[in-house]
Amino acid sequence: MSLRLFNTFTRKKEIFRPARKGEVKFYACGPTVYDYVHVGNLRTFIFEDILRRTLELNGHKVKLVMNITDIDDKTIRGAKKAGKSLKEFTSFYEKGFFGDIKRLNILPAFKYPRATEHISEMKKIINLLLKKKYAYETEDGIYFDISKFKKYGRLSGLKQKEPARPAGGLKSGARISVDEYSKDQAEDFALWKKKSPPVGGHPGWHIECSAMSIKYLGLPIDIHAGGIDLIFPHHENEIAQSEAAYGRKFARFFVEGEHLLIEKKKMSKSLGNLFTLRDLETKGFEPLDFRYLVLTAHYRSPLSFSWKALEGARQARLKLQERAREAKARKKKSDGSFCKEFLARLNDDLNMPRALALLWKEAKSYEDLLCADEVLGLGLKNLKKSAVPPRVKALLVKREALRREKKWGQADRIREEIMKLGFKVQDMPEGSQVIKI
Ligand code: AMP
Ligand code: ZN
Repeated sequence: MSLRLFNTFTRKKEIFRPARKGEVKFYACGPTVYDYVHVGNLRTFIFEDILRRTLELNGHKVKLVMNITDIDDKTIRGAKKAGKSLKEFTSFYEKGFFGDIKRLNILPAFKYPRATEHISEMKKIINLLLKKKYAYETEDGIYFDISKFKKYGRLSGLKQKEPARPAGGLKSGARISVDEYSKDQAEDFALWKKKSPPVGGHPGWHIECSAMSIKYLGLPIDIHAGGIDLIFPHHENEIAQSEAAYGRKFARFFVEGEHLLIEKKKMSKSLGNLFTLRDLETKGFEPLDFRYLVLTAHYRSPLSFSWKALEGARQARLKLQERAREAKARKKKSDGSFCKEFLARLNDDLNMPRALALLWKEAKSYEDLLCADEVLGLGLKNLKKSAVPPRVKALLVKREALRREKKWGQADRIREEIMKLGFKVQDMPEGSQVIKI
């Protein structure tokens, strides 16, 4: 049984096989390090980690490259405002990013190339584009002429505006020099910006991904991933400049994940409706509680963030840990059927909600749970000793029995007894559990 993935390019679920047997070349757009990443960004990085782990559970070797955008309009502006050098400014947030993904059990990529260290590779592509007349130079920069690339707009389903500009009248072409713009602006985009004090010229945002993807993974790559906001213009522009420069396909599968929302709006820095992983930890949550929350939604469905939802995720994760401890102690053998079915559900375009439902219903042995955790990444293998002492567990069982007999008064007294031992009882539809106070 093979993995089927929704390919934005064809808007269909397709059977995924790497172009070269044995290795999946996977490029994911990384963070812009001008601030702490927010949990919206982290939702996308977790989804990419799930994809990578699913590929590995299918037996593929995965070569993942994720860039670090450490030079663009935002980082330059931020460094200037903070009165720091660009390097000093970005390396602080870069460290923050690596700390976050480690705490979320996101497996490390093969390489995290920085844009600042690949300027010559970018210039090489820009020169090729100038030579082939896909790019032109103006007073303030070098631009990609989208009217020359006939397939422009294919990925995002955007029809190129006709006529894009008068033939030969390049300077009168509609140009865009800012890094981010909306879907109804199909315009020539900046490959290089000449005027950017204090660095004295810097690449446009899109060119770095083409340069680093081609350098470390070649052409074509198997999978290119990111959040859906990247389909246009970022991924669209990456395709245009890479394919125009080399006359070869850039990426075979485009896989983009939906957003994390707050009150129906995309979590974003510009709206100011964001939380960082630190914010969650300050409220007493573990990073893996957020990871569990992300697992509850399909990657192509929006997910709403709320403290209540995060609390639900925490309860479920703690319960799963308890289950794993019990299963380990029981030493029951697995017949392997769970793992097979779990993978089959993931192989249907990463249907994690269905895979999780199976887990709760069918995972019987510790082996089953460990198999699932290869993709879940919830650390079920390295469980610390149960935080719940046997005395508390025994009281909980006794209380459950009393509740079944509707002896509420006695059950309440046990609840208080458990409280004195430092644990709070929570009654859930699937049964009761305790949490350390
Ligand atoms: P940036 O640092 O803005 O380039 O974003 C890094 C990654 O986070 C990209 O793949 C974005 O698509 C993704 N992203 C940004 N905001 C959200 C959000 N609210 N939910 C999910 N992914 C997001
Ligand atoms: Zn990118």
